[in-house]
Amino acid sequence: NNLLNISNLKVNIEGKEILRGVDLQVAKGEIHVIMGPNGGGKSTLGYTLMGHPQYEIIDGNIEFDGEIINDLKVDKRAKKGIFLSFQYPEEIPGVTVEEFLRTAKTSVSGEIQKIIPFKKLLKEKMNQLEMKEEYASRYLNLGFSGGEKKKNEILQMSILEPKLAILDETDSGLDVDAIRIVAEGVKKLQDREKSIIVITHYNKLLEYLQPDFVHILLDGKIVKSGGLELAQEIDKKGYENIRNEFSNK
Ligand code: ADP
Ligand code: MG
Ligand code: MG
Repeated sequence: NNLLNISNLKVNIEGKEILRGVDLQVAKGEIHVIMGPNGGGKSTLGYTLMGHPQYEIIDGNIEFDGEIINDLKVDKRAKKGIFLSFQYPEEIPGVTVEEFLRTAKTSVSGEIQKIIPFKKLLKEKMNQLEMKEEYASRYLNLGFSGGEKKKNEILQMSILEPKLAILDETDSGLDVDAIRIVAEGVKKLQDREKSIIVITHYNKLLEYLQPDFVHILLDGKIVKSGGLELAQEIDKKGYENIRNEFSNK
């Protein structure tokens, strides 16, 4: 029972082919990790799944929850339950974290979020992430540390409760304590119905998450899949062997 079924996905950016035939199946409840050298197309895959207009699908299909979504716009995909973590690089003075998240939840769920119940939900999720309460009333990203911005992505995910969460290097630049908290947040979201794709380089996060599959994305293709041991092998030996084996294919 696959939640996500990507077949032969080819994607252009500004006329250049970046994804060159990606195949990936994600069943409900699974955690998948995508690793690979810089520039291989990991973020491109994330943006394409979310429906970013700059990424042009030239071949293949993305099937989500039984529907081909190639032509769906970002907001429709969000309503169907796809979430891509990304930092809001701009600081938004005048909009608090709480207001921002309440608006996002209203938009994605299609249900008005009343102030008092939403405050309660937010408090509960923030507790899980060991975030201080006053954080909710701060202006979005204004003076946030790198770690706070990353936790904010996880907070957003746990409020929106997507069917498929794609986390693109949400862990990079976090200290070990923050990585553990992020991992716990991710684990709490995951259940038999919800799936997660984590784009990351090898680190402690993977050991906490115990992913079902690890995939290597190299030059726009998934060239190898395995379990956590594949990630450990890459950590020891780098991508050189895999490059030698698969470049030109
Ligand atoms: P990764 O996340 O694996 O490091 P990316 O998906 O960010 O890789 O990038 C894959 C390739 O696509 C790189 O060669 C990069 O330069 C190119 N690319 C990514 N985004 C853009 C863009 N917005 N415009 C032009 N080229 C891009
Ligand atoms: Mg990168
Ligand atoms: Mg990237």
